[in-house]
Amino acid sequence: MPITLPRDDGRCGWYKLLTQTRPSRQVHGRQRADVVIVGGGFVGLAAARAYAQLRPDHRVILLEALKVGQGASGRNSGFLIDLPHKRDLELGSLERKKKIYRLNLEAIADLRHHVQHHQIQCDWEETGKYQVAVGERGIGFLKNYATLLDDFGYPYTIIDSQPLADVLGSNYYSQAIHTDKCVLVQPAALVNGLADTLPANVELYEEHPVLELARHNSQFDISTQDAVFTAPKVILATNIFTKEFGYLQARMLPTMTYASMTRPLSTDEMRVFRQVSSWGATPADHGGTTLRLSRDRRLVIRNSYQFVPNYHDDLGTRRAIRDSHLQGLRARYPQFENLTLDYTWGGACALSRNYQAFFGELDKHLFFSGIHQSVGATRGTITGKLLAHMALGEHSESLSDMLEISQKPAINPPEPFLSVGVKARMALARRESASEL
Ligand SMILES: Cc1cc2nc3c(=O)[nH]c(=O)nc-3n(C[C@H](O)[C@H](O)[C@H](O)COP(=O)(O)OP(=O)(O)OC[C@H]3O[C@@H](n4cnc5c(N)ncnc54)[C@H](O)[C@@H]3O)c2cc1C
Repeated sequence: MPITLPRDDGRCGWYKLLTQTRPSRQVHGRQRADVVIVGGGFVGLAAARAYAQLRPDHRVILLEALKVGQGASGRNSGFLIDLPHKRDLELGSLERKKKIYRLNLEAIADLRHHVQHHQIQCDWEETGKYQVAVGERGIGFLKNYATLLDDFGYPYTIIDSQPLADVLGSNYYSQAIHTDKCVLVQPAALVNGLADTLPANVELYEEHPVLELARHNSQFDISTQDAVFTAPKVILATNIFTKEFGYLQARMLPTMTYASMTRPLSTDEMRVFRQVSSWGATPADHGGTTLRLSRDRRLVIRNSYQFVPNYHDDLGTRRAIRDSHLQGLRARYPQFENLTLDYTWGGACALSRNYQAFFGELDKHLFFSGIHQSVGATRGTITGKLLAHMALGEHSESLSDMLEISQKPAINPPEPFLSVGVKARMALARRESASEL
């Protein structure tokens, strides 16, 4: 049976706003390579760069089904987060949290270096982020967050409702905690800039979906429509589509989360933001809403999860989410008349039941990093680089740390129990977080 491939819904605002993209290169026939990397998101781009830098004489092939930036890495909210996220901050030893934090900082430092060195125009902003609370329930979550940060020894600032309203231009929020090392970016511009500046021994083929991956003794055959690559090593950087190659089928929960972007705000409307002209806010309640004011004066909202065992959503869901995003923005900004959305899109996120990601070898010489629990920009970047190190047998403290903090995603119950359970869990989270949507 043919495998299911990624599709672009043609609606991602970040991608639509790019002013330039590359023409796709073509390749035909039988080809030999030293490594084939499948998937051109944060993981695949970082893996290709690191592998090629370590072995400048190797032929490194990067195959992407769509255009770079049309996968989740160009569709996200653009927060490069330094802190361990959600349960990684709540659970586990202090030592594990410190390792995750150090690895995330290394990813941010790597990205900063590439952005500066290659002058990638991606609205890179070292503004930190606000963790925002709605009402008493939200403040309860923030108190818990503050305790976790204290235990971790991480500095933060508590911002009360009025100064917060001056920044966010909205009275909707009751309190926030500001932490200062998160970086905000235009994600599609960042990944495209990374793709444009890969080392010379990386050949990137966009719009070249991999249709089959077969192993023959010590070699893999990786087939696209017009070419077959033979290589001794493969790195899968295919996010939820990894299931299609027969791996982690029973451990991954393929989901989508959704974002919308408004029209640019007018100069007059921008006056409600009294302090800064761009910022990012993530919800104190994990089931809540992420919100940004982008550098080009648009509000970007993200919330809602949908379980997508067949990878794709339906138009009805997207319309309903678009309406709820508009409603959420109107509740936060009643002063903006005629607030309209220019774009609404969904993007793939892999979750697991025990909140563990996967990093390492799926099979001999077949590597994967994914199931990032919907925060994979920094994790994808560091794990992509470290997969390349692992594939080449290069040892480093970072690789040892990554292997040490990595556990296996839990096994799912069989269908139909899985779908029923996940949908019920998501419906409950939606109800509990209704005031945050
Ligand atoms: C709306 C939204 C908001 C988010 N916000 C944030 C955020 O602010 N911060 C954060 O850290 N994370 C965020 N995330 C999560 C983050 O985007 C992902 O965790 C991360 O991009 C995953 O990177 P990746 O390289 O593993 O996957 P992807 O970027 O999805 O890359 C996988 C690539 O593989 C390609 N592919 C799949 N199958 C094949 C095949 N057969 N042949 C060839 N290519 C194939 C796909 O086309 C895709 O481009 C968000 C996600 C979404 C959807």
